[in-house]
Amino acid sequence: MKVGILGGGQLARMLALAGHPLDIACLVVDPSPDACAGSVSEHIVTGYDDVDALARLVDETSVITYEFENVALSSVERLAARVPVHPGWRALATARDRVLEKGMFDALGIPTATYLPVSSRADLSAAIEKCGLPSILKTRTEGYDGKGQASVNSVDDALPAWRSLGERPAILESRVSFERELSVIAVRGRDGNVRVYPLAENTHMDGILRLSVARPEDPMHGAARGYVERLMHALDYVGVVALELFVDGDQLLANEFAPRVHNSGHWTIEGAVTSQFENHLRAVTGLPLGSTEALGPAAMLNLIGAVPERRDVLRVPSAHLHLYGKTPRPGRKVGHITVRADDQGTLRARVDALSGLAGVWPGIGL
Ligand code: AMP
Repeated sequence: MKVGILGGGQLARMLALAGHPLDIACLVVDPSPDACAGSVSEHIVTGYDDVDALARLVDETSVITYEFENVALSSVERLAARVPVHPGWRALATARDRVLEKGMFDALGIPTATYLPVSSRADLSAAIEKCGLPSILKTRTEGYDGKGQASVNSVDDALPAWRSLGERPAILESRVSFERELSVIAVRGRDGNVRVYPLAENTHMDGILRLSVARPEDPMHGAARGYVERLMHALDYVGVVALELFVDGDQLLANEFAPRVHNSGHWTIEGAVTSQFENHLRAVTGLPLGSTEALGPAAMLNLIGAVPERRDVLRVPSAHLHLYGKTPRPGRKVGHITVRADDQGTLRARVDALSGLAGVWPGIGL
């Protein structure tokens, strides 16, 4: 069995690695010749709108998925007419546009920060009126890792913020003074079966995820589970989804969802009975889903911009190193470390032992 993947970055690489023991091969399409999934799967080096490459995907694969949401919708539509594409077109179209995404949350009764679409500078004052200050202006599409966003702390900031985003269609959101950022990762099979992973509590620095900690006992789990189940059923979703959330007092607000495996779910590789990568492949190929239960306390540390010495990571008990084979550059995700323990105190000590290493945010901890 062969699965086609649009995008050949680290998420595709880890999908391909998870497919190996199941004898599921992956064929990735990525315009970059050194896309890091290319060393573990077949790789067609071309753009996502290359009709010949898409024809080869259709001929050679039994299902197609993607590892990022900025694939051209027209390509996905063309593929979906010939071979199943999971998650489907509607999930992709909704997730890649912040206004459609927030509209879907509203329709499903999932609370969010106050927001208003902004399509011209004339919309800015009404948006500030509704959202209040401080707020955040975000481009409707193509934002990631804090890119495509500008803070609006005063009325005078609004126009420069709008200009800094290239005057593109945007959304203004009130800035939530959240206590915690969480994500819920879930998987839905072709038969509609759903499994939900324990919540991950996420710490970002400079807009990039640095640390995720599994929180199996989190009091917000029930609410998060309800939101993500509603979302998946509404979209007739197949595959892994990640829903990012803010905890504001006793409120749980949805920020955005990603129709794919997610960085905050990397702890599941060694920390859960079945990893998010294996479960995504199981879902899109119509296989039974695996247990999403955590094996115990677990965390994941991202390696950004630098690769530590292997021995420095591996000397920490229960730490596993996942390198993506990418050349380090400032701000670039080059790998991650997963770490487990039998109790939270030991997990904290192990994360502390890792927090001084190259690529890990200095001093980050539980
Ligand atoms: P996003 O691209 O929407 O995931 O935003 C990236 C990061 O910016 C989030 O993980 C939050 O840390 C922060 N952020 C985004 N939206 C808001 C908001 N409305 N209020 C407070 N912080 C936010």
